[in-house]
Amino acid sequence: MHPFILERPHDLAAALAFNAVAGHDDAPVEYIAGGTDMVQLLQENVRRPERLVSLAGILDSRIDVGEHGLRIGAAATMAMVAAHPAVQQQFPVIAESLLQSASPQVRNQATMGGNLLQRTRCPYFRDVGYESCNRRLLGSGCAALHGQNRWHAVLGTSEHCIAAHPSDVAVALVALDAVVEISRTNTQRSVPLNDFYRLPGSTPHIQTVLEPGEVISAITVAPNPAALRSHYVKVRDRASFEFALVSAAVGLEMDGGTIRGARVALGGVGTKPWRVGAVETALTGAAIDTATLQQAAALAAQDAVGYGGNDFKIELMQRAIIRAIEIAGGRP
Ligand code: SF4
Repeated sequence: MHPFILERPHDLAAALAFNAVAGHDDAPVEYIAGGTDMVQLLQENVRRPERLVSLAGILDSRIDVGEHGLRIGAAATMAMVAAHPAVQQQFPVIAESLLQSASPQVRNQATMGGNLLQRTRCPYFRDVGYESCNRRLLGSGCAALHGQNRWHAVLGTSEHCIAAHPSDVAVALVALDAVVEISRTNTQRSVPLNDFYRLPGSTPHIQTVLEPGEVISAITVAPNPAALRSHYVKVRDRASFEFALVSAAVGLEMDGGTIRGARVALGGVGTKPWRVGAVETALTGAAIDTATLQQAAALAAQDAVGYGGNDFKIELMQRAIIRAIEIAGGRP
């Protein structure tokens, strides 16, 4: 592990004054909250900051559900949100996605803000024994392009990086049009989560729109009629403590047997959580029958590109969408 200085500021203003960076892989000063992903990366020498600024005890951890919708303080743990009765009842896709993530121990420690900022599971990124990884060292190449890419993305990729985004709950939140509240010295701004993540393009080491000195302070979800009838399907290599090969978050607004509105996002297949507007449009006004669902789900694959080892995801993600719609549509 590369030696670093740990700063422990007493309040948010002092933490922000360090001007640390979140969401970049080459930053010399970074923030740390629950640390479940960061500590692994420090131990493996993947990340080598000179200074870490702890956010422990200084960010909001409250979960509030009311007429305004849902507000989750960035320091709320995954376990707190998953166990919240109103979240389970009114936003089931959020609770389900969290309960299918990580392990109970990790969920007890990991914060929601940190979950949104966790790094990809690309094995070439996480093992410094591999020299070619544009995320760790820009210009070094991408070992996954012609290597083992079973876990990698088929949507939003570039010739510089094909790493899949790893968060489950980010997929559910994108489906529900969640917004990220961002704090910086003396001010705040809000960014839709769908716009928070950047595509890799030619700068895959920069994953979010966060600027130096900015931290996620909360996540909000406005009242959404599709949230009540929502569901998360996750397909993975083993039943627990495993990341998604493919996942689908779906929310439906029903009018009898007809879909009045649909929200659909995919995980495990995109370089960021992947909202599929074409599928939503095709579902609007349709009934839940096999032929309609197959035609709508096929639209998710329009721009998908496989790299050999991950070609199977293009078919699998369509099946995940159909399964999630069938389950969500069957809810009372
Ligand atoms: Fe690195 Fe991205 Fe290529 Fe993985 S897919 S080796 S993270 S550049």
